[in-house]
Amino acid sequence: MTKQENMKTILKTTIFFLCAIVSAQQTDYQQDSTQLREIYTASLTNGKSYDWLDYLSNKIGGRLAGSEGDKKAVAWGKSELEKLGLDKVWLQPVTVPHWVRGKKEEAYIKTQYGNFNVDICALGSSIATSKEGVLAEVIEVQSVKEVEVLGDKVKGKIVFYNRPMPADKIETMKAYGASVGQRYNGARVAGKYGAVGAIVRSMNLKIDNYPHTGVMSYGDNAENEKIPTAAISTSGAELLSRMLKEKDKFQVEFYFKQSCQNLPDAQSYNVIGEIAGSKFPDEIMVVGGHLDSWDLGDGSHDDGAGIVQSMEVLRLFKELKIRPKRTLRVVLFANEENGLGGGKAYAAEAKKNNEKHIVGLESDSGGFTPRGFGFTCNDKNFEHIQQWKSLFEPYNIHIFARGGGGADIGPLKKEGNVLLGLRPDSQRYFDFHHTAADVFEAVHKRELELGAATMTSIIYLFDKYGIK
Ligand SMILES: [Zn+2]
Repeated sequence: MTKQENMKTILKTTIFFLCAIVSAQQTDYQQDSTQLREIYTASLTNGKSYDWLDYLSNKIGGRLAGSEGDKKAVAWGKSELEKLGLDKVWLQPVTVPHWVRGKKEEAYIKTQYGNFNVDICALGSSIATSKEGVLAEVIEVQSVKEVEVLGDKVKGKIVFYNRPMPADKIETMKAYGASVGQRYNGARVAGKYGAVGAIVRSMNLKIDNYPHTGVMSYGDNAENEKIPTAAISTSGAELLSRMLKEKDKFQVEFYFKQSCQNLPDAQSYNVIGEIAGSKFPDEIMVVGGHLDSWDLGDGSHDDGAGIVQSMEVLRLFKELKIRPKRTLRVVLFANEENGLGGGKAYAAEAKKNNEKHIVGLESDSGGFTPRGFGFTCNDKNFEHIQQWKSLFEPYNIHIFARGGGGADIGPLKKEGNVLLGLRPDSQRYFDFHHTAADVFEAVHKRELELGAATMTSIIYLFDKYGIK
């Protein structure tokens, strides 16, 4: 063979292999694209997520850890998963806090012209006021740091945390993150300096009359440093702040009364269902949301939507006869809202059993139109996942961003695995989050189903290609 002929042969062979690679990729792309189309069609035309949500929201309702609703939700979740013909369904015991709200809270701004009623709700874990309620002067602040600077000046007063969620953040979850510290830590810090109560502006970007509950903590405060704390609606917060600013016009005091209680810990459960992997059963992929919810509404967005979408992932695998190569699990986590007991118990059990979780996917950002995912993983996996992005373009899914996952799957983080969170449009989430407005009617059927299909699709790809 001459040198020239030799070169020709090498070139031909190279071209042959390149063509083979390209065509293999094309075939896979076409197969994957067809599979995704089937998943979306099944979810949108014959899905189960919306009916499930209807039942969970309207027949069971609010389901705070330890409540009757919590027990009913666990029984319902188990029985629905059992109907799907999975390989295994089981309950995992979780010890949970048991806080109850008691009677509807009362609050008003007291002035020399009369009382102005405002809407409040006790924060989760808060203690009650005395039976008569608390009446005191108010001191408005923007942060816990400001209270630390004021020190003893807050003694005998009600501290009013009024830092709004920053409206300029495009992702409203980030705006929440920027403000929620005052809700969690406000009473703890104010109590240390002798305040008699803490009122926190609701985590909401719009001005309305819904107070938003959420968990708080007293940290290691002594009993006498524990003070009652509540959220005030944004419109109530605006009114109170305005009156406080016009000192020459109004003599302002604030009154509130609440009868919430921390009861002894209760028993709850993570509800788990599994399809065993046909080829790599030791590689576990988890999808989940949290089964508990706050008590004011029925928790349809937070996190009923995430629950039914996660269940739908396994149901769609069964319906479309996709036998996963890797083990696929759904976990309906207990007690995310006020303790994260479910997420911690699940991760502890996984560690004890030496289980290898390669992927964790959580939906806990509301049931709105899906836009994509946020990923917590190393560079290699991030690059690997980016290759699938174009498959989602027909469905207007375009966010494949870094950072994300969820509180429940967080404890499963390990070097080399992938945690991801579904990212729905977040603009209206805080109209509902932790309020009486978070009800079934607030969730849109198609948006919910698109989310379920989007989750199923990415799990299908993780199952097929694994992680790097
Ligand atoms: Zn949630």
